[in-house]
Amino acid sequence: MTHITIEQLHDDVKSGKTSFEAQVRSNLAQINQNGHLNAFVNVFGDEAIQRAQMLDSKIKNGEPVGALAGVVISIKDNICYKNHIATAGSKILSGYRSPFSATAVEKLEAADAIIIGTTNCDQFGMGSMSTNSHYGAVRNGFDSDLIAGGSSGGAAVSVQTGMCMVALGSDTGGSVRQPAAFTGTIGFKPTYGSVSRYGLIAYGSSFDQIGIISSNYEDAAVVYDVIAGKDVNDATSIDVSMESEIPSGRLKLAYVPEMFAGQSDWMEENRQYLEVLGKDHDLMPVSFDYMKYLVPCYYILCTAEASSNLSRFDGVRYGHRSEKKGDLLEMYKNSRSEGFGSEVKKRIMLGTFVLSEGYFDAYFTKALKVRRLLADRINNILSEADGFILPVSAVGPWRLDEKITDPTQLYMSDIYTVLANLVGNPCITVPISDKKHNSTSNNSLQLIVKSTADKTIFNLAKLISIKY
Ligand code: GLN
Repeated sequence: MTHITIEQLHDDVKSGKTSFEAQVRSNLAQINQNGHLNAFVNVFGDEAIQRAQMLDSKIKNGEPVGALAGVVISIKDNICYKNHIATAGSKILSGYRSPFSATAVEKLEAADAIIIGTTNCDQFGMGSMSTNSHYGAVRNGFDSDLIAGGSSGGAAVSVQTGMCMVALGSDTGGSVRQPAAFTGTIGFKPTYGSVSRYGLIAYGSSFDQIGIISSNYEDAAVVYDVIAGKDVNDATSIDVSMESEIPSGRLKLAYVPEMFAGQSDWMEENRQYLEVLGKDHDLMPVSFDYMKYLVPCYYILCTAEASSNLSRFDGVRYGHRSEKKGDLLEMYKNSRSEGFGSEVKKRIMLGTFVLSEGYFDAYFTKALKVRRLLADRINNILSEADGFILPVSAVGPWRLDEKITDPTQLYMSDIYTVLANLVGNPCITVPISDKKHNSTSNNSLQLIVKSTADKTIFNLAKLISIKY
């Protein structure tokens, strides 16, 4: 599958070599051919074609069009799009039609992008395999027996297989970056708050961030320009500098040697790539005493936030309502018991536990303190380095039928990705395999940079990734 960039599409449409309609039709053909990958929940084919025809006629008449004219974009099923169904991959929201659009989607539309459909994901973004979905598992386009990663697995596969050009996902603890690494695409989690969360169905509000999956850095940067910025509907949103520094010469790249210590082919490849990087850049080994706190700290805080966020789903206001007879309290209980999947229930219970009176200080307050220490350490490291590099995952995508019996083993697999969400800094995946569309080799590293240096991250990533 060859991927066309946004710039290339615009050049080709202007020169008459192709049309927006042809682009949409080629994406729709890919969606049809790859139905077995289960990447989409809903496809808005007719609407997308109509919008493409309208934009084609604007081009023909010489009328101005927006920065994302004709760019075909998928959105994760937890991002609201006015008058369209959004269910966050969960039965509890079945049939929920959003009366408004997320700010990011509104901005995409105002820039003339074409929303082609909603993508499959773990319920409420809770998972690392895209198997916790009410609609069944997403499969990897490299090999359909492999997981696509998660929770934005459908988003990653939609870009990987050319079902669209760019995808919006959400990243609470790695959900954009890990599936991007598993599918040979690029995943970008912006600085916390730099993309409005208005209209993103909440999981862990102080971690959640809308992120971008694309096939190249340029497209991610163009889409980020459009969706970033302060929004009156999200009090935590911020403006970041739209200046991008263009670094030259040798970069100072910090890394923690223990993070690269594991025994697997993937880790071996990561280590080899560090050696390659060391030729052109200055690698700075740094100490980091908090490795063992990353996963517990993340899971304490995000489940606490989730238990509060998900209390709004009660069978009254949105989606699924139990048909069993009973009083109001029973109706709440039955609707929630039937609507939420088992992983979601587990996390609501965990979150309620860590917030309970007797345990609040021992878990929740302590985790907040750890979070502060992590942020201080990362800021400290980045005051002396241009970037901080770390693996995405200790292993590559595993088989869908591989049973993971220890429940904490899967949580531990998030160890490298949760850091960027705990500290809030921007983070992007950096492909390091030259055979990017080969199922056995599509590994990536992650690059974290200073908070709000989002526009610079693309330039830095380009300098250190294998030619992409
Ligand atoms: N895998 C992590 C979790 O299950 C991250 C998910 C995400 O970023 N939404 O919470």
